[in-house]
Amino acid sequence: MKTIDDLEVAGKRVFVRADLNVPLDGDTITDDGRIRAVAPTIARLAEAGAKVIVASHLGRPKGAPDPQFSLAPVAKRLGEILGKPVAFAADTVGDSAKATVAALGDGEVTLLENLRFNAGETSKDDAERAAFADQLAALADAYVGDGFGAVHRKHASVYDLPARLPHAAGDLIATEVGVLKKLTEDVKRPYVVVLGGAKVSDKLAVIDELLGKADRLLIGGGMAYTFLKAKGYEVGISLLQEDQIPAVTEYMERAERDGVELVLPVDILASADFPDLKTKAPADFVTVDADRIPSDKEGLDIGPKTRELYASKLADAATVFWNGPLGVFEHPDYAGGTSAIAQALLDTDAFTVVGGGDSAAAVRTLGFDETAFGHISTGGGASLEYLEGKTLPGLAALED
Ligand code: ADP
Ligand code: MG
Repeated sequence: MKTIDDLEVAGKRVFVRADLNVPLDGDTITDDGRIRAVAPTIARLAEAGAKVIVASHLGRPKGAPDPQFSLAPVAKRLGEILGKPVAFAADTVGDSAKATVAALGDGEVTLLENLRFNAGETSKDDAERAAFADQLAALADAYVGDGFGAVHRKHASVYDLPARLPHAAGDLIATEVGVLKKLTEDVKRPYVVVLGGAKVSDKLAVIDELLGKADRLLIGGGMAYTFLKAKGYEVGISLLQEDQIPAVTEYMERAERDGVELVLPVDILASADFPDLKTKAPADFVTVDADRIPSDKEGLDIGPKTRELYASKLADAATVFWNGPLGVFEHPDYAGGTSAIAQALLDTDAFTVVGGGDSAAAVRTLGFDETAFGHISTGGGASLEYLEGKTLPGLAALED
């Protein structure tokens, strides 16, 4: 993979595909980790005299402009982080983008509006994506891929655009890939993986691969209930992927046979109501053993016995990969499981990698020092697919 040092950037218009998909509350950025992660790449290009055109997606607009997904607040925050103005283009390839780019001086930075305001960005139709990529390519002289969180997407700005311009990987992607290589090639053992979060079906696939790699798998978050159900337990109204029960059963059998420790929660905080994440009003929950979830309640966090058990399973680790909060950490009553895991990671001497947008945000919003972890990845799906051994379109496009 070429790096920025292999590109001629001085005086050139350099398109940086970043991942600035940050969580927003109205137009307030609640976690700016992804902006800070790519800022050094942008600053380096600007210092080298490039005219820097930054572009990203934000959320899931439906292929047309939608003000609630505007990148305008991100342009402002990026400017604060860089300590210089960032011109904001009100569209992606329209008059505003063309005029803003044309007005850029050497060392100046602009951010385009949300790429997903154009249907061509995410289209499954190769020709439609190509047409959008052609329009983006016309704005720039070179391409830097640095949106690690989006490299598993075969999208126009990620996959089609680099083929049209001299291209290189940015510093963030280089770092992220370097870390993930450590987890896939010659990993230091014991290698313990903690999996939680809500995107159960996405994450079940990675278990398949990890059963052949990790020494221990600790399961929490929404996906735990599919496992508990597969063991024959009542899971009430918890998140459940009924259709995945056969797969999960096979994972448990394989783990047993191959001597991989697959550890499930032994107790749960369960409630009849999903908590109010806006008011954060005190939740009404019970703490029950994992085989005693009442039929009218859903599991929302791992309980105290599980926190202790998982901490003991992490204590002697040499390598840890953690993806997905263990509970609904956005509410203080259900943040304890996620906090306990974060603390257990800090208490080990292991090389610790945290992946996933919400996991990374959880670590920061729960008050942990992010620099105390080995690496906090900006990519959730991307890091999981890398660990699954899949070819990631956005990395493949930077390869040649
Ligand atoms: P990441 O972004 O780190 O990959 P996900 O997007 O998969 O993680 O999941 C994060 C979400 O999972 C959080 O919003 C959290 O509230 C939710 N979650 C965790 N545990 C549960 C649970 N038991 N029930 C419902 N949602 C959960
Ligand atoms: Mg997420």
